[in-house]
Amino acid sequence: MTDPSAPALTNAELFDRARAVIPGGVNSPVRAFNSVGGTPYFVTRAAGAHVWDVEGRGYVDMVQSYGAVIAGHGHPLVVDAIRRAAGEGTSYGAPTHREVLLAEAIRARMPSVEKVRLVSSGTEATMTAIRLARGATGRDRIVKFAGNYHGHSDALLAASGSAVAHLDHSDGATLPGSAGVPAAAVADTVVLPYNQVPVLDETVAAVIVEPVAANMGLVAPAPGFLQGLRDECTRVGAVLIFDEVITGFRLGIGGAQQVFGVTPDLTCLGKVIGGGLNVGAFGGRSDLMDQLAPLGPVYQAGTLSGNPLATAAGLAALSLLDQDAYQRLERAAARLAAGLQDAFDSAEVSARVPRVGTLVGIFIAPPGTEGPVEAPLDYEGARMTDEDGYGRFFHAMIDAGVALAPGAYEVLFPGLAHTHDIVDHVVTVAYRSALALARKDVP
Ligand SMILES: *Cc1c(COP(=O)(O)O)cnc(C)c1O
Repeated sequence: MTDPSAPALTNAELFDRARAVIPGGVNSPVRAFNSVGGTPYFVTRAAGAHVWDVEGRGYVDMVQSYGAVIAGHGHPLVVDAIRRAAGEGTSYGAPTHREVLLAEAIRARMPSVEKVRLVSSGTEATMTAIRLARGATGRDRIVKFAGNYHGHSDALLAASGSAVAHLDHSDGATLPGSAGVPAAAVADTVVLPYNQVPVLDETVAAVIVEPVAANMGLVAPAPGFLQGLRDECTRVGAVLIFDEVITGFRLGIGGAQQVFGVTPDLTCLGKVIGGGLNVGAFGGRSDLMDQLAPLGPVYQAGTLSGNPLATAAGLAALSLLDQDAYQRLERAAARLAAGLQDAFDSAEVSARVPRVGTLVGIFIAPPGTEGPVEAPLDYEGARMTDEDGYGRFFHAMIDAGVALAPGAYEVLFPGLAHTHDIVDHVVTVAYRSALALARKDVP
């Protein structure tokens, strides 16, 4: 599966050049492989479930742009939509008809989103949802949960999971998760343990939560957790924000809120709704959304917001996601999770492969674990994961042509391009990699 048209450059050469001009050689930290070690692969092209690097090596890709390309890389319908849109101009600074279509498509699938605003990333969506909740309630305090990642805005960078987990030594206390975030920026951010319903009071503007946590490995919401948050928010008049940047249009047509039957006031979207281009969105109750400029006093804007290419890609991606697509996604995820669990069990590696619908995680238990491994319920549990073990498993997998995310806190994103044959191949490679991990003969 090598690619003869690849440029004559090695990943190592390109990484050296990258590091000379880009901090760490990457434009998003997890891509630098710091937590697994080694040299990242530089992608030249991708198709369906596969990516190819500059050396011409192909990989089965379980990263899928962290879930943004649910239809698989370069899906013809999405690519055609982008091509056609590009021929008509790439950005205007004026409203377009596809923004209306995408907003209507979102509302049709997620009835709690009565009105929606399109932005360019998940970070913008969560950041602005917080501002809106504060503006609408006249309160400052926000509650987030340890290990939930909501992008990289100041107020939300506290105990944040994902790549921040490698920096983060705050252990649930409200400390900034990054240098450069003033203590004052997180002074009104309260970080609480996931899966425990807090008792709120009337100082709380908003509770923001990943309804399925997918940035500390995969952690399912405990029964009653999401409904408990809904009830507490209603009781004290706080805004409940579901960060569905990963789960939206991935867990099902109506996202996690439909699967778990709990309705938030605001929802943040990203990843899937851009079809691999730069789109985020936040939306919810009309009375809240109408607090936004130009109707209301809460300011938000964006030169490229509602970009014509991005909305074309998003509409094309959403058009592919019918009930049948979700059934196929769920079957692929179930086959993958069962296969991976079997691979670890057969190789006698203590690990748990949690699955929630179409999302799959890997939790490798700390060395010396005896007996059955339980899936973690919160950040404290998730951080017990054997990061070194994950790194060794990761390298055994990638050496055999299967690309997992280069970090123990990320999840796997089986998509519509992951056929049963591809999933079975991943499982076979995982079994051999788990054996190598158990024998400790991978560096
Ligand atoms: C990826 C992610 C974000 C941030 O989205 P970006 O587009 O990377 O800014 C926010 N919340 C969750 C749950 C995410 O997974």
